[in-house]
Amino acid sequence: MAKGEVAIGACVCGAVRVEIGVPARWAWHDHSAASRQAHGAAYATYVGSWRSRFRVLDGEKHITRFEDEAAGTARSFCARCGTPLFYERASAPKMVNVPRALFTARTGREPRYHMNLGQQADWTYLGEPLAPLKGYPGVMWERPSRKKKRAPPDPMF
Ligand SMILES: [Zn+2]
Repeated sequence: MAKGEVAIGACVCGAVRVEIGVPARWAWHDHSAASRQAHGAAYATYVGSWRSRFRVLDGEKHITRFEDEAAGTARSFCARCGTPLFYERASAPKMVNVPRALFTARTGREPRYHMNLGQQADWTYLGEPLAPLKGYPGVMWERPSRKKKRAPPDPMF
């Protein structure tokens, strides 16, 4: 990608727009319980940008922020629509993490890294085979496992 190129992200209502330089530093999936809750999703996928290559283009006044001092993190949201906008961690002060979903264009990095897998929700969809659900067009479902539970061995034989 050309030097000086940017990717622009926006919240659902469009009030806040942010920009990062591309290619981004990296992209990662965060399976932590805190990110799961904050996003209302199985996990959050972030694009990590150097702070120096990140800026808010519009809607600064609509941004609200939650600082978790114990965790050393800060999460910023759009106060109008609730979209998570960026996530800062004291452990990486030069980085700003922006949800990948805010960008429609490419960010120059594929999300190949997984963090906090020990906290992954056991209901996370991991690509199990799906089949159409009869009578509900557009609904796919995961069939229960075909493996039959074996009875415990008979101690008499
Ligand atoms: Zn918004």
